[in-house]
Amino acid sequence: MSDDAERFRAITLDDLTMPGGWSVSSGQVHLYTPAEQRLMHEARAFAHREILPRAAEADRRVAAIKAGHEPGPERRRLLREVARAYLKLIGEAGLTGALFPEAYGGNGRGVVAECIVDEELAAAGHPGDVIRSVSLTLGTISVLRFGTEAQKRRHIPPRLAGEELSGIGITEPQIGSDTSRMQTRAVLHGDRWVINGQKRFITGGGLADYLTLFAITDTATHPHKGMSAFIVPMDHPGVTISRQLDEVIMADWMDNAWIEFHDVDVPRDSLLGPLHGGHRVLMDELDTERVTYCASSLGGARRALEVAAEYSTKRVQFKQPIASFEGVSFKLAEMYAWLDAARQLTYRTAKMIEAGAPAQRESAVTKLFVADAVWKIVDHAMQVLGGVGYTTDFPVQAIFRNARLMRIGAGSDEIMKFLIARELLREIKG
Ligand SMILES: Cc1cc2nc3c(=O)[nH]c(=O)nc-3n(C[C@H](O)[C@H](O)[C@H](O)COP(=O)(O)OP(=O)(O)OC[C@H]3O[C@@H](n4cnc5c(N)ncnc54)[C@H](O)[C@@H]3O)c2cc1C
Repeated sequence: MSDDAERFRAITLDDLTMPGGWSVSSGQVHLYTPAEQRLMHEARAFAHREILPRAAEADRRVAAIKAGHEPGPERRRLLREVARAYLKLIGEAGLTGALFPEAYGGNGRGVVAECIVDEELAAAGHPGDVIRSVSLTLGTISVLRFGTEAQKRRHIPPRLAGEELSGIGITEPQIGSDTSRMQTRAVLHGDRWVINGQKRFITGGGLADYLTLFAITDTATHPHKGMSAFIVPMDHPGVTISRQLDEVIMADWMDNAWIEFHDVDVPRDSLLGPLHGGHRVLMDELDTERVTYCASSLGGARRALEVAAEYSTKRVQFKQPIASFEGVSFKLAEMYAWLDAARQLTYRTAKMIEAGAPAQRESAVTKLFVADAVWKIVDHAMQVLGGVGYTTDFPVQAIFRNARLMRIGAGSDEIMKFLIARELLREIKG
């Protein structure tokens, strides 16, 4: 290339060797067992080889489906195909089963292994990955922990194989953080539950075959003592997607639905867990959800750091690679430090949950800290990339938008602080 051509050549993502070319995570050697390290390398190699090359194509496919189809059944059918193909791919590679025993089609490796896989898959940035974590963690972990044997055998194997998708229905138009005000009701008539209400912001709601749905079953007591969980088929008469929400965050991802339930009557055995025990089901699910959400977000943040670090060694301004300016290299150092600390917390809490220890406060601490760290890492990455970071030529803008959601979804920053303070004050008061 002539000097002139070189001067005007912009660096593209293809000029960077990441991810997988080098790793910012050498400290992980001391954090993981040898088996966990092997899993990490396998998952990273798979993500690099099989997912990364498909991710951009899948992004384009999702965008084309959304551009070519109004919200409705056809659009949902096509998006469902993208999500299922992704889940099938990773399911065949044995990457969907860490949280589930072999009896239900999993590999039972545990919560730490799940977090390792979450981080590696999320780093590859496939649009189906959000559906993976919603379907397999949020929607299915409570089936494993609280379901009957029949429910587990019926729902878990097809979900791990990508043949059945699930979502989770907690949030309503009138209630978000305060689940004690839940309006959705389920009433037992003979041997059928009749459900009425609305759920809003349901990730993958339009793609899901089943929803793990929370509803009030006893209005005479405190809602936390009168809430139950159900497994509800989404093709049931009375279930309607009243709006497909295209959020700013995850706009190029899959699907977010506002769902109405009008006299949806499901069999008695659709109840998931104990009658009126739904709050326990929800709290148990949330601890695991929060820590796996942290692991996925670490994956995005790590990729942002990898992209920014390598870009900074290639981008020349004032006749030097920008990495030679402390204003840039110190940002990289901070990003690394935040990532490292966030990782330690995530895996500490994952180990607690795996060991069956109560971890509500630790999950809240982890989610609060990791959400802040990830947000700052990705903000720095955007700054290091300058203008190109803001374009869709680089993945940082998408990671940036997803990172912002982490401070709201699965319990906002403020709710995490509320949970931590409540436990702290309880202890102080004895
Ligand atoms: C993209 C996306 C995907 C989602 N996916 C799902 C899903 O799959 N399933 C599902 O059920 N839900 C889902 N949600 C909903 C999400 O969990 C809620 O948005 C979240 O819990 C916050 O509820 P809210 O939006 O109603 O905000 P609100 O509860 O109305 O809160 C608004 C603001 O007030 C603050 N606040 C509220 N109470 C307090 C308090 N006591 N002290 C201090 N501050 C307080 C909040 O922190 C927040 O800043 C999703 C949301 C989004 C945006």
